[in-house]
Amino acid sequence: MALLKGRFGYYQPRTPEEKIRARRREERRRQEAAAAAAWLRKTRWCVAGCGREAARYEDSIGKALRFDGACSPECQAAWERRQTDEKAD
Ligand SMILES: [Zn+2]
Repeated sequence: MALLKGRFGYYQPRTPEEKIRARRREERRRQEAAAAAAWLRKTRWCVAGCGREAARYEDSIGKALRFDGACSPECQAAWERRQTDEKAD
């Protein structure tokens, strides 16, 4: 059972209401973790298709993409060029 955060820190839910609240919180946390994992999987490889992993800001919490999903500034530029070309067609 997940812990709830209270005025004096985390505590074990005791009442039915608290247990429901803890379960909902746990469920939301799991969904967010699953969504984050899915996003990491989806954005794992360089968008330019060079076969390398996309570069990320490793020190950031969200693992933000560093070059818009590319592994390097070169790949990012190539990818953007390709996008522009496709729009021009
Ligand atoms: Zn690349």
